[in-house]
Amino acid sequence: MNSRLLPTLAGYWDGAFRSVTAQPTFDVVDPASTEVLATLPTYGASEANRAVDAAVGALAHTPSLEQRRQWLLTIERELLGNVTELARIITAENGKPIAESQGEVNYSAGFFADAARQLTHLESRDLPITAKGHRWRLHHRPAGVAGLITPWNFPMGMLAKKLAGAIAAGCPTVIKPSELTPLSSIAWFTLLHEMDLPKGFVNLVFGDAPAIGNVLCERMEVRVISFTGSTGVGRLLATQSAPNLKRMSLELGGNAPFVVFDDADLDAAVDHLMANKFRNAGQTCVCANRVLVQDGAYDEFVTRASDRIRSLVVGPGADLATDVGPLIDERARSKVASMVADAVDRGAVIAVGGESAPGAGAFYAPTVLTGVNGSMRCSQEELFGPVVAIERFADEEAGIVRANDTEYGLAAYVFSADADRLERVAARLHFGHVGLNTGTGPTPEAPFGGMQQSGLGREGGLEGILEYVEIQTCPTPAAP
Ligand code: ADP
Repeated sequence: MNSRLLPTLAGYWDGAFRSVTAQPTFDVVDPASTEVLATLPTYGASEANRAVDAAVGALAHTPSLEQRRQWLLTIERELLGNVTELARIITAENGKPIAESQGEVNYSAGFFADAARQLTHLESRDLPITAKGHRWRLHHRPAGVAGLITPWNFPMGMLAKKLAGAIAAGCPTVIKPSELTPLSSIAWFTLLHEMDLPKGFVNLVFGDAPAIGNVLCERMEVRVISFTGSTGVGRLLATQSAPNLKRMSLELGGNAPFVVFDDADLDAAVDHLMANKFRNAGQTCVCANRVLVQDGAYDEFVTRASDRIRSLVVGPGADLATDVGPLIDERARSKVASMVADAVDRGAVIAVGGESAPGAGAFYAPTVLTGVNGSMRCSQEELFGPVVAIERFADEEAGIVRANDTEYGLAAYVFSADADRLERVAARLHFGHVGLNTGTGPTPEAPFGGMQQSGLGREGGLEGILEYVEIQTCPTPAAP
């Protein structure tokens, strides 16, 4: 695709874009039209090793906090100054509506602004004690090279969370975006290249994901792996990294319950469901996956939600009228279709949609399933599509038990007019993010991450930076 931010279609290491011609290539496809947007070199282990070497070289000089602050604020400014073009690229390769892509660029910029604000917490300090006759000074050192592996559903946002934390901590990075959506990272590197960053401080490789991942896990100098993606790949990376005892920051799958009690404001709950569920055509790990509605509100909630969902406009993300874009590819669409078929086989009813939508890409109609239960795949796995699966529950205890009935623990949402109940229910849910009368997802200022099989570590806020920090304690004899 043509863009002033894509003058070169290549990876980047040791301070320059690297075109490698004598190797296989892969295509990046527009999910709305299935047209090829770009053809890129397939980098593998040798390029990943060169990128790690470059990053190791950059470790020689730890940038000062003031230097990091300048870089973070420059990146924030560059992202905000290029929202329109970056959003066009995200929509082209990911398919989401253009307004969502613009929101994603703004969201990405927010991580750099917040990380810049958090830097004061990384200043060295003396503990307010004398112990063992010593003064104790504490430093926040960069943990080392960080390997950042990101998925396709938020091609910029997921990288922004990681990169802001790593830069704030002073860590050089080797970045591997998803091969489905590498163009927004390349565009971002065009902006990074224009900055005064040391050679090797940021590096970009893509192509053979297992080979690159293996290098990042096996190289001892890579001290942090930060990964967002499937639980299976997260486990593989943890296993590959185990011999080198790396820090792992893993944001894995979710299976978010969206619990609506009888006393909830149903119109508000439906509004929040619409905003939460249909972002990126339902392809987010914080999307409501199981909508659990108490008996007394069930019929009314189904009616109101169905009315809203029926009116959603499906189409290419570049069309301003579009509410719901295509799924990322045909594989994603057949997975959604098979989960809907499984639910129907097991007794669910299709109230809205339930079929593919027309268009060259993998479009799927916004769908409502009712009468869902725990035996169905759609309540055990992530739907990752525009399908609202609604299940009924009897009372508070049953609602909590159903909400917690998953090995995952990323996001949950609870709606009730009773503040005590909200507190009580949240305290019993094993999810890292629990929206109370809101379907909102993460924000740069707050730490976000999963419990149980949804991963390790947090992104955003101070905690997101500390993933890349090693604490060093230096005792010195106290003056007599
Ligand atoms: P999704 O189902 O969201 O595509 P994946 O876990 O497959 O999730 O992909 C997330 C990221 O992990 C992508 O950048 C992908 O290329 C990368 N990835 C996939 N397999 C491996 C692997 N074996 N080693 C390292 N990275 C991998």
